[in-house]
Amino acid sequence: MTAIPFDNSFARLPAQMFSALPPTPVKDPGWIARNDALAAELGIEDAWFGGDDSLAVFAGNTTAEGSTPVAQLYAAHQFGHWNPQLGDGRAILLGEVIGTDGIRRDIQLKGSGRTPYSRSGDGRSWLGPVLREYLISEAMHAMGVPTTRALAAVTTGEEVFRETALPGAVFTRVAQSHIRVGTFQVHASRQDKDALQALFDYTVARHYPEATDPNAFLRAVVGNQAQLIAKWMGLGFIHGVMNTDNCSVAGETIDYGPCAFMDAYDPAKVFSSIDQTGRYAYGNQPGIAAWNCAQLATSLIPLMPDQDAAIEAFTQSVNTFPDHYDAAWLAVVGAKLGISDPSANDRPLIKDLLELMTAGGSDFTNTFANLASPKAQDQFADRDGFARWQTRWADRRATEFAAIMARANPQVIPRNHQVEAVIQAGVAGDFAPFHNMLSVVTDPFAPLDDAREPYAAPPTDQEIVTRTFCGT
Ligand code: AMP
Ligand code: MG
Repeated sequence: MTAIPFDNSFARLPAQMFSALPPTPVKDPGWIARNDALAAELGIEDAWFGGDDSLAVFAGNTTAEGSTPVAQLYAAHQFGHWNPQLGDGRAILLGEVIGTDGIRRDIQLKGSGRTPYSRSGDGRSWLGPVLREYLISEAMHAMGVPTTRALAAVTTGEEVFRETALPGAVFTRVAQSHIRVGTFQVHASRQDKDALQALFDYTVARHYPEATDPNAFLRAVVGNQAQLIAKWMGLGFIHGVMNTDNCSVAGETIDYGPCAFMDAYDPAKVFSSIDQTGRYAYGNQPGIAAWNCAQLATSLIPLMPDQDAAIEAFTQSVNTFPDHYDAAWLAVVGAKLGISDPSANDRPLIKDLLELMTAGGSDFTNTFANLASPKAQDQFADRDGFARWQTRWADRRATEFAAIMARANPQVIPRNHQVEAVIQAGVAGDFAPFHNMLSVVTDPFAPLDDAREPYAAPPTDQEIVTRTFCGT
């Protein structure tokens, strides 16, 4: 019996789609965190997970039995600019497992050394992005958002050099796959029809078995992206780098870099230091997701017998995004307001609340978490306006509104200033704050108690984080 029940399929696709190579070993690995529940769902041997042999695998020091490690090739539009070749420059796909739920998932190391796609990068990661992705991806999962998961995080005993020397770490993530819009783009732009067809057949079989042609596949991706972004919007989540390589065709949130949740509500909010023009601002995310779907559509055209007909059909499919998104968003925000049957008639009520929140710089999470409590008025500059809004809301919400809202509005999110504090402690060798925060943010809907209360606090003026940095 092997410790990880690998069943690899991507590595059997045409060779131009990846580079086969093992991770690069590190000096002195040590555990930061392991996700036992996820390991069990993936069928990973309990007695092995957590021992020294598993530490060596998740540090990249040994190749597990059954693993066929590869770095995947892709391309991307980065901030709208075409980059014909990217790829896993700091990641290695170890292989796939079929979980107890019957779903095939990738197990991938991130920060595992250089690959043919590394360009000038070192292929490594420092501790900060590893802790950030672990916390945020597991919190997103707990809040019901499709996402890659965190299986393990280890220190390397090596330093990586960014602006300064920082402790290195390797993150193990689990995804329904790492097939991105950019994975299609690279083969389409190379006019490699064989690879493109093989990728399409593979992706449909793996993720959309009911989609029998490229247009059906496209429509399914559009629908999933619309659902996903509506969930982000309902939590105040800002991805930060919605490039086409960071857009999973399986519809999961992927590639957590400079992502963050907003504290004060502001539709124009941007955290990422590299997003100078605000292309990926909170309020732009639905439009960008639709744009990414259009890039996928372009990549699928070579698979169609009649190009003009394909362009017409694909355009129609991409243009369904706003309707899908509007419906998904209404369902998300309706639940946040305790409305059991939200409809377009509720839009003015929602819009007016969001306007009051914008004007008041209201804390997004706490406003919804406390909307029915007298504390809510503290979130608003225009208290009278809010009181009038509350009367309209009271007339509209369901009788069982409190129960609906309790399932839709997290009490805690991984707030940026707290993520930064956890990272600082980790750099100093103390992972207790990381573990404390992880246990709180992975139980986001539970009522606050003394231990959880501090995590619900918005940043003080001194604590506000204005900029986040890419996960390199
Ligand atoms: P991302 O920020 O995840 O979208 O990364 C963009 C591209 O840069 C991907 O192809 C990454 O593999 C690559 N990359 C990012 N950081 C590094 C690094 N430290 N070493 C090598 N490649 C990297
Ligand atoms: Mg990426």
